Amino acid sequence: MSKKKHSFQCSFCGRDKSEALMLIAGIDGHICEMCVEQAYDIIQEELYDEKKRKKKSSTTFTSKIHKPQEIKEYLDRYIIGQDQAKKVLSVAVYNHYKRLGQKTTKDDVEIEKSNVLFVGKTGTGKTLLAKTIARLLNVPFAIVDATVFTEAGYVGEDVESILSRLLQVCNYDVEAAERGIVYVDELDKIARKSDNPSITRDVSGEGVQQAMLKMLEGTDVSVPPQGGRKHPEQKLVKINTENILFICGGAFDGIEKKIADRINKKVIGFKTEDGLDTTNTDDLLQYVTHQDIKHYGLIPELIGRLPVLTYLSELNLSALKAILTEPKNALLKQYIKLFEIEGIDLTFTEDAIDFIAEKALEYELGARGLRSICEAIMTDAMFELPSQKEVNNFVVDRSYAEEKLSRSKLSKLKVA
Ligand code: ADP
Repeated sequence: MSKKKHSFQCSFCGRDKSEALMLIAGIDGHICEMCVEQAYDIIQEELYDEKKRKKKSSTTFTSKIHKPQEIKEYLDRYIIGQDQAKKVLSVAVYNHYKRLGQKTTKDDVEIEKSNVLFVGKTGTGKTLLAKTIARLLNVPFAIVDATVFTEAGYVGEDVESILSRLLQVCNYDVEAAERGIVYVDELDKIARKSDNPSITRDVSGEGVQQAMLKMLEGTDVSVPPQGGRKHPEQKLVKINTENILFICGGAFDGIEKKIADRINKKVIGFKTEDGLDTTNTDDLLQYVTHQDIKHYGLIPELIGRLPVLTYLSELNLSALKAILTEPKNALLKQYIKLFEIEGIDLTFTEDAIDFIAEKALEYELGARGLRSICEAIMTDAMFELPSQKEVNNFVVDRSYAEEKLSRSKLSKLKVA
């Protein structure tokens, strides 16, 4: 009788058990440790790296891009109201990423970039919209303030430092930066100072607008990675801005007057002689066009590179109340969470919420004011309660809120 030992072999490479360190048995065969490793590498390469590549490569982005309605639904979770702006932004973003996908095909119709311009008072959610969309898309996001820029050669920053900011947030990963979103705040502040292109050079207005043109359109920009001026000793990094989405925002104070002039209406909202306050100037913003922006002092070339224009309405009392309580990370939910960690059940009464919203309206800071008002009201409680072992619930009502706010510096903020 043959005493031949029953030998096991790797079903993939054929190596005998004696040659392998390990042989793993399956239903109908075996696999050695080397083949497992090789299979692992193949999986990494084919699946994981491919996934990463897809995520990185803007050209394949469209397969994952959310539909405009899905984008808006996501924005709805974080931003109260501003339906029109959300809708317009959702479509712009969708088209932007569709455009990136289109680059791979040999289609001769080239879709233009859909950079966006938001017009709306401070604290209405312009920055929040841009930030939220970047979070949904999981792309690098930078906020820059247009007021710091001046034409090259003058005191101030070069517009290229817009991209330095973007590079910094993604750890100098150029490829990631090239798919990012930049929010340029206070664009209205670089409006041409007067209609008369004259005597003094307008280095922080029109000069900056000119400098921004190419960048918005899409070009290779040499960027000083650390920001600031281009020092000869600083190695410049080349960034292509073709796929970077620029979202610009500004309050464009007084633009209602230009809109009204155009649509041939009296600017109402200022009291008429008989003292009647007939309309809300805010309503006029919905009619804003590129023409009004041009009259405001942005050069036509720049306006042309911001083809998507929309507005954000001023927030009214009910919107401010909703902002306090409804979004996923609403301010009051955050305080409740903070107290919960402390083991304290915190509640805000309806009239306390009313009070906070009324004050924010009064201070004319939009939703931006809510945070500082809440802080003024809550600081004492947050300071004292953690040391009081026996407290396990706490109610903030109107009189408590009034009392705390009246003692704070904020109460000195009187509206003229
Ligand atoms: P803007 O850029 O228009 O000046 P922000 O987007 O910076 O205003 O808003 C300031 C803060 O106010 C945001 O962080 C957010 O907490 C809140 N906020 C403003 N508008 C809204 C809104 N429509 N919905 C929810 N929160 C808002």
